[in-house]
Amino acid sequence: MPKIYRANLTGVFGDPVDANPTVVLQEAGFNALGLNWRYLTIKVTAKNLADAFKGFKAMNFSGINLTMPHKIEALKYMDSIAQSARLIGAINTVTVDADGKLTGHNTDGQGMIESMREAGIPLAKKRLVILGAGGAARAIAVECALAGVKEMTIVNRSRAKGDELAALINNNTECSAAYIPWKGTAQIPECDILVNATNIGMYPNTDKPDIDYSAIKPGTAVIDVVFEPAITPFLSEAEKHGAKIYDGLGMLVNQGAIAFGLWTGLKAPKAEMAKALKAALSDV
Ligand code: NDP
Repeated sequence: MPKIYRANLTGVFGDPVDANPTVVLQEAGFNALGLNWRYLTIKVTAKNLADAFKGFKAMNFSGINLTMPHKIEALKYMDSIAQSARLIGAINTVTVDADGKLTGHNTDGQGMIESMREAGIPLAKKRLVILGAGGAARAIAVECALAGVKEMTIVNRSRAKGDELAALINNNTECSAAYIPWKGTAQIPECDILVNATNIGMYPNTDKPDIDYSAIKPGTAVIDVVFEPAITPFLSEAEKHGAKIYDGLGMLVNQGAIAFGLWTGLKAPKAEMAKALKAALSDV
């Protein structure tokens, strides 16, 4: 039996992408399971995405992640799109089947759902408030609605994106969604789960979303998508009002673990992946 030197290639296409930490997460997973797989952080500008996918196929990549600005544009290079990714209208993970056909998935919202499941936060019949209506918010809103959330309020600055997301949820799921414009200090309705899906608070920014924190009832599950720092000013302020807080690392590890499973067909070694990611982020 000849020794196999060729590795299975995965990675991420993005621009900017230099500071994307996913390589640490995925390579820790490959190493923990002794897999000869690699994850490459690849700068691909918007105009080069078509060529990047030609290279992906020519070099027999086993899968790829997509980050900005490619999550929507990449849809056109897929042979099929997973159901929730189609609803979300964006993909962050590509798998390749035995015939070389590409399928687009979106693991962001699923990662959030899995981190809620791990934390014991129930979703069925619950009321959710989401701050933001960008890519992360869309993925979380769709997956939460499909997972049984009953009422959803989307708070966003730009009306067009907020209205569009509320309509998407109302027209495609059993969940009832409403949009609230975000002007000045947002008054949020009573809820069971509050998610910050804006980039407010991401290092080096130290702001917190401008909402009326006194509206948070003790025991509310408050979750941030921002993962650096782990405990953001948003989470600290919510905790002062009695919330149970959950950082963005849970979503980050789980969206990566789902992609790992899609590519390798194996259960991701999440503990090792999370440990490596936390060590890398605490180094910054
Ligand atoms: P987008 O650019 O698609 O969306 C950003 C959203 O934030 C928009 O709704 C925007 O509102 C809102 N926003 C930005 N600044 C402000 C502000 N000052 N006041 C009010 N609203 C604001 O970004 P993404 O959705 O892709 O990413 C959002 C965050 O989620 C990023 O920090 C990203 O790193 C993080 N993320 C974390 C993941 C994880 O696994 N933990 C996974 C994916 C993303 P408007 O529409 O009005 O412009």
